[in-house]
Amino acid sequence: MLTVDELVELEVLISEEIEKLQVRSAESAEEREAITPDVSIGRLSRLDAMQIQEIAKEGERRRKDRLPRLEYALDLIDLGKYGKCERCHNWIPFARLKEQPETLLCAGCA
Ligand SMILES: [Zn+2]
Repeated sequence: MLTVDELVELEVLISEEIEKLQVRSAESAEEREAITPDVSIGRLSRLDAMQIQEIAKEGERRRKDRLPRLEYALDLIDLGKYGKCERCHNWIPFARLKEQPETLLCAGCA
């Protein structure tokens, strides 16, 4: 079971993570606009630009996926239901939560 101190630490961690993801999303939107392929660059560099764009999009997808999970974790903390594995209902170790605060499963069930 998590102590109050651990819970507070995780809550801060999650809030910071949410903030970081939001900032990163804003930056990435600018980047995607900046690398719009244009006719003045060669074929190879255009491919590079497209590849970079794909990577940026993939990162964005992952962030979009992670953000609601982090927000859900905050909700669970508010409800006093955070830190229990959804499948086996055992407590998820603090170390695992610190590494992956949005996780809903213990290492055994994941
Ligand atoms: Zn479990």
